[in-house]
Amino acid sequence: MTRLYNEPAAFADEMIEGFVAANARYVRAVPGGVARSTVSPEGQVALVIGGGSGHYPAFGGLVGQGLAHGAAMGNLFASPATQQVESVARAAENGGGVLLSYGNYAGDVLNFDAAQDRLRAAGIPCETVTVTDDVSSAPLAEKHKRRGIAGDLTVFKSAAAAAEAGYELAEVVRVAALANERTRSFGVAFTGCTLPGAPEPLFTVAERRMAVGMGIHGEPGIGETDIPTADELAGMLVARLLEELPEGVESARGARVVPILNGLGSVKYEEMFVVYRRIARLLEEAGVEIVDPHVGEFCTSFDMAGTSLTLFWLDEELERLWNAPVDAPAYRKGSVVAAERVATTEVDAMTDGAVPEASPESRQAASRVLTAIEALTDAIDENVDELGRMDAIAGDGDHGIGMQRGAHAARTAAQEAVTAGAGAGNVLLRAGDAWSHRAGGTSGALWGVALRALGVHLGDSDVPSAASVAAGVAAGAEGITSYGKAQVGDKTMVDAIVPFTETLSRETEAGASLAAAWTSAADAATAAAAATADLLPRMGRARPHAEKSLGTPDPGAHSFALIVRTVATVLADRQEGSN
Ligand code: ADP
Ligand code: MG
Repeated sequence: MTRLYNEPAAFADEMIEGFVAANARYVRAVPGGVARSTVSPEGQVALVIGGGSGHYPAFGGLVGQGLAHGAAMGNLFASPATQQVESVARAAENGGGVLLSYGNYAGDVLNFDAAQDRLRAAGIPCETVTVTDDVSSAPLAEKHKRRGIAGDLTVFKSAAAAAEAGYELAEVVRVAALANERTRSFGVAFTGCTLPGAPEPLFTVAERRMAVGMGIHGEPGIGETDIPTADELAGMLVARLLEELPEGVESARGARVVPILNGLGSVKYEEMFVVYRRIARLLEEAGVEIVDPHVGEFCTSFDMAGTSLTLFWLDEELERLWNAPVDAPAYRKGSVVAAERVATTEVDAMTDGAVPEASPESRQAASRVLTAIEALTDAIDENVDELGRMDAIAGDGDHGIGMQRGAHAARTAAQEAVTAGAGAGNVLLRAGDAWSHRAGGTSGALWGVALRALGVHLGDSDVPSAASVAAGVAAGAEGITSYGKAQVGDKTMVDAIVPFTETLSRETEAGASLAAAWTSAADAATAAAAATADLLPRMGRARPHAEKSLGTPDPGAHSFALIVRTVATVLADRQEGSN
């Protein structure tokens, strides 16, 4: 239960504002999140972390000397947008390149990857290491698919200490990957968590029962049992983690290990100490040499009751890096020589600067683009509840509000751009950026990528023709599949996008007008979206709840069809008007 909030939608922003006000010694607000408020040495690799909010001290609480240089902070349990990651990275960067590191979740991967591409395109070397410590989220053979939970800390800490020690980007990447390989976590949950303003918990665990291996956003676990005693729980956590020694560790006996018992939000420290007492004994019995144990909150899940055990298997280098000093809001260690404060807190807002020159024809087309965006925003407003309900069946229920936030932001950005004299391409580009920035979630990021790609393709000088629009739409679809990596049949928006794109290209090539081709393509998308009801999801948040979604179409495919149908009406109206 979250009791204290104002406007629920403003919760994350207000939380960040208060967090910065309380921690100005460590952090400063930058567009998209926070960066250190202290000066870092020129040429030092910048560690930029991030993820959804609601996991404090992850991620903002881990920014400070000896730890991260910046954190992109998304909405509650929602990945930060691409621009947020890019903006924080630019603010945090010191000329030594950027390492992006975060827990392995589809939405985060999408947005951080897109930000990485943009940073590289801007000449800033950028690499990524995702954290995959949760042993219950995929078998060992598919370790790369595992989620990141409390093991974030060991990976961030090792990478940051390496950066601080002057390692180059490639070496910091090596250390982060090694720390990730040597970090394993396993967790349990007793209750779900309730986001501010939500009428009920995001998920529930039956009274007196314990979900084993449940994820920090309520992703289903691997089983359920009655709540055991503290000692029994300790036995369970230790046994599972000792089953799976990381590569390079021959035996638990003699291995040097940092145990981290993490509270997920509303388990008492006292309860955890009782559990830890037994964990320490069991590890000692297994011959493990315990180094620097941690009992506390390092990655929470709002007010979820639950706990996880992480074992970090040290080698000589990792132990040295682990012991290096840190001074961050929620993590301190040793004594850090305090660096000077950053002189200015001015950072460019996430704007795209002045509107580029556009031809009169393209400006005329821009106002038609705006009409289409206005119409699709109305359509989403009318269907917001239905989209939410569809997403709640197998996903997290936020598709309606996410699409609404995205479309509204896109409409505002498009209106401003048109007023400023932008061409069609620039209007789409700005609308796409605004959409992904405000929408959050996987679909928001993908809509951002698609509109941006379409905008780049159309440009600001030529009159968009049926052929160039079809090619631009194909480029947008290509962007969606290259970032999202879903294929036809995975039960995502791609199932509607592919037939849409194919029909649009085929009909325009055959000489149909844009309005006619678009209408046929929208019909194909509508039929394909409806047909996703029979599919089992294989991508995104819905994957673990697969069977529940049978009989319901994919919400992203459904909203895509709704949008292209709406745009078809706009195009048809225009054609009638001009005839
Ligand atoms: P989130 O999944 O982050 O909660 P939304 O609820 O807004 O985001 O969007 C869910 C929709 O996003 C799904 O119905 C699906 O159509 C689409 N989606 C999810 N993952 C992918 C992916 N990898 N590629 C394409 N579309 C995806
Ligand atoms: Mg969702």
